[in-house]
Amino acid sequence: MTEPKQAATRLVAELRQQGIDDGVVLAAMARVAREDFVPESERSSAYVNQPLPIGEGQTISQPYIVALMTHAAGVARGDRVLEIGTGSGYQTAILAEIGCVVYSIEIRPELARCAAALLDRPEWHIHLRTGDGHAGWPSAAPFQAILITAAPKSLPPVLAEQLRAGGSIVAPLGEADAVQRLVVHKKQADGSLKRTDLGGVRFVPMVSD
Ligand code: SAH
Repeated sequence: MTEPKQAATRLVAELRQQGIDDGVVLAAMARVAREDFVPESERSSAYVNQPLPIGEGQTISQPYIVALMTHAAGVARGDRVLEIGTGSGYQTAILAEIGCVVYSIEIRPELARCAAALLDRPEWHIHLRTGDGHAGWPSAAPFQAILITAAPKSLPPVLAEQLRAGGSIVAPLGEADAVQRLVVHKKQADGSLKRTDLGGVRFVPMVSD
């Protein structure tokens, strides 16, 4: 059997070949064991570059998409970051491994409970909440970056309000059961949002309570 460390290093080499050249993101992805965040039945595929089921009809994102979104968020050590859709907790762990202070919200209590157990490490600064992420986390705002890892039809305005000027929201936008667009909105000094489209993606829908 291949050692996890070797497998993660191979996955990172594959991401590099796919055009991810952010050394900080790749180093974090090489250090975090994705196998910890997938169900036992999927463990043999943990370092394959594909999404995997995590139960309740939800998925852990494809590593390439995690790398792309983390890079697009433009985060650095010490930044306060909001994530909507904790899911498995893998994306949360990558942000925490970079050194971000992560606030993450998950609407499904069982997934939130599993992720909380996996994310409880002294070296990571992570705050978790169970509930509907549409309202964001006002008491911790403003954030340097916001990552939405489930797809809303359009950008929730409340979340944009919780973003610091110069910061970015990265989110898949569009209808459920369709190809969505992965979009970055960067907040300008005047409060307006500058939009960049990173391409087509497929995420589970962002649902409401
Ligand atoms: N970042 C996760 C992605 C999980 S899939 C990972 O890499 O594992 C998206 C998650 O968003 C699911 O767990 C789903 O339950 C959650 N979700 C959907 N709508 C939500 C909402 N309104 N608020 C918070 N979480 C939501």
